[in-house]
Amino acid sequence: MGFDNTKLLWMNGEFVEWDKATFHVSAHALHYGSGVFEGIRCYETSAGPAVFRLDAHIQRLYTSASFYGIEIPYAQSELEKAICRLIRLNGFKDCYIRPICFLGSQNLSLNPRNFPVEAAILAWSWGSLLGAESIEKGVRVTVSPYQKFHSSMMPTTAKACGQYLNSIIAVRDAVGRGFDEALLLDKDGFIAEGAGENLFLIKDETIFTNDETSSILLGITRDSAIQIAKDMGYKVEVNKFRLEDLLDADEVFFTGTAAEVTPVREVDDKAIGNGKCGAITKKIQQTFFAATSGEEKRYQHWLSFVTRKENDFTPHLSFQTLIENR
Ligand code: PMP
Repeated sequence: MGFDNTKLLWMNGEFVEWDKATFHVSAHALHYGSGVFEGIRCYETSAGPAVFRLDAHIQRLYTSASFYGIEIPYAQSELEKAICRLIRLNGFKDCYIRPICFLGSQNLSLNPRNFPVEAAILAWSWGSLLGAESIEKGVRVTVSPYQKFHSSMMPTTAKACGQYLNSIIAVRDAVGRGFDEALLLDKDGFIAEGAGENLFLIKDETIFTNDETSSILLGITRDSAIQIAKDMGYKVEVNKFRLEDLLDADEVFFTGTAAEVTPVREVDDKAIGNGKCGAITKKIQQTFFAATSGEEKRYQHWLSFVTRKENDFTPHLSFQTLIENR
């Protein structure tokens, strides 16, 4: 999970060695968390490495930034291009990608105006967030004593640095009590989400998930899982749900870029269904991985291929064209 396998990162328009990427300790973001970021995955495919839903992630980065008045001094296409080059330069077949844009050093006012915005992109190899076994066997979660902050307190649909202290304190508590992950309720007692994942439950072959009215981040993997489930012919209902609904579900799973599609096998020591990965969860998970690997044609438009040649950057070139050009 460390950074041992990466050499270069991108910072403020340049590729720099990992150890040389520095910023000043007086940076606003260090003190107040005034930055926004993304978590993106690049997968190995038969046409080379491909970034999953790159445009949706970059779009969310800019939307998050606009909530906090952070003006990113690059076009979206420039960051997309830099991501693909960074993957090539580091020689990754697959990796996790972390673009971050944050307020730099000027003063430490709570009314930051006309600040320098620092932008960086990191990429490194990172396996499954909740452990390799979790994808197959599922995870054990606990309802956190820490609630998810409500969208009237902070924009939950933004992925902003400081907001993650809520997740960190919840995970610390959950892992300290022997669980794999924390599940946070919203201020009204409805289920919000995992510390870094959205939640789905399945009852009588209908798939349920919540939305931003339950103070969640609108996950891109969530959106992909909804699309996949609908395409498989399942009914997907988006609504608020309570802990009772979860405990009564036949199957439960998490979605997230880092967690991918991970079954939830227990909530506070109570087994969900038969305590194993459910059949529908398995099907959605398999199709998700067929989409990320490029095997599933229907979802190839979700992949941005990291082409090999330096001058031939074409993030949206089709899978077929790439195969033909190899
Ligand atoms: N909720 C939270 C709080 C998260 O941090 C994440 C991970 N980005 C998600 C949900 C899932 O979002 P995505 O599928 O876009 O990674």
